Amino acid sequence: MEYRKIIEKLEEAALHPSKTVTNTIKSTGKSAIGCFPIYTPEEIIYAAGYVPVGMWGGTTTLQLADKYLQSFCCSIMRSNMEYGMKGAYNMLEAVILPTFCDTLKCICENWKVGVPNIPIIPIVYPQNRTLECGYVYMLDEFKRVKVEIERLSGKKIEEKDIEAAFDIYEEYRVTMREFVEIVADYPQIIKTKSRHLIIKAGQFLDKGEYTKDIKAIIDGLKVEEKQTFKGTKIIATGLMSEPVELLEIFDENQIAIVGDDLAQESRQWRTVTRDDEVDVWNKMTSRVADQRGDTFFYEYMKSRGENLIDMVKEKSADGIVVFMMKFCDPEEYDYPIYKKEVEAAGIPMLYLEIDQQITSYEQLRTRIQSFSEMLISREA
Ligand code: SF4
Repeated sequence: MEYRKIIEKLEEAALHPSKTVTNTIKSTGKSAIGCFPIYTPEEIIYAAGYVPVGMWGGTTTLQLADKYLQSFCCSIMRSNMEYGMKGAYNMLEAVILPTFCDTLKCICENWKVGVPNIPIIPIVYPQNRTLECGYVYMLDEFKRVKVEIERLSGKKIEEKDIEAAFDIYEEYRVTMREFVEIVADYPQIIKTKSRHLIIKAGQFLDKGEYTKDIKAIIDGLKVEEKQTFKGTKIIATGLMSEPVELLEIFDENQIAIVGDDLAQESRQWRTVTRDDEVDVWNKMTSRVADQRGDTFFYEYMKSRGENLIDMVKEKSADGIVVFMMKFCDPEEYDYPIYKKEVEAAGIPMLYLEIDQQITSYEQLRTRIQSFSEMLISREA
């Protein structure tokens, strides 16, 4: 298939998650397990013969979720709970939930009562992951999740299964690193909204098949001529850059994302796997231990600001846009620290508070437009 057609196909897949997951279940002949954000060990699910699918909320009318989650919980989890209670996730055999924040911890118990038909498997990540005790704990936790999935499927996950799954995910991660690099050179072809949708589609498709599509897009782009981009370039940081209507405003103002520090995007694959680990379990664990500049993993000296500044320099970006999920405590706690560092480096930064249930974009439109004009006037 011509690469532009693949782009259209992936955009469509990302815009209709429920339909896409149903189609993936049909085409692979596998059942699916839902993965609450973030860093669910998809390799274990894949090795057990399931398709792991992302659960990143969505735009919906909140009617039922308020029974369990207060209005000051983040919209992504309120949406997930709402979808669960309305039966939108009934195609899932189970869900896995990492308990990174207070909301996720509460959801773990709420889900059992609110969505009793879909079993939930929690996974607890250690914060002191670089200490030996944290490392050993993480390794044991991955193996506990493996046992829980085996119990669910009634089938043992052999070592060769997990190795094969890990290889598929490694290929995916390497390919995605290449994809975000090359896309930065072609902002006229892959615009901001499209970049996001192409990446998001991977959450609902079989990773092996999806990686082939991304490789075809990369090959297609490589033969295109690079053109001078007349707009502005930014680095995106935060949990996710949604709703997509927001990204349409970026495109209207010719703002391209040339690099990201988003939990839904590059944070998933930017840490390179150690090649000297003894087995897949240690590779998975060391990937957690090696993740830097990430809100969800403790660092004595937070390196997120430094990482963002480095990305701006490396990509010759004009500024940084913070996509702050409203009521996301971990992301909000980080903000004052990296804001100070980014300001000291003289890098313009735009803070956007986002919510998946936004109905009016006019204020955000004005702020994005003003930011874009400010960046252009700095260049002039
Ligand atoms: S508060 Fe933040 S980390 Fe916690 S579930 Fe919501 S978006 Fe995720």
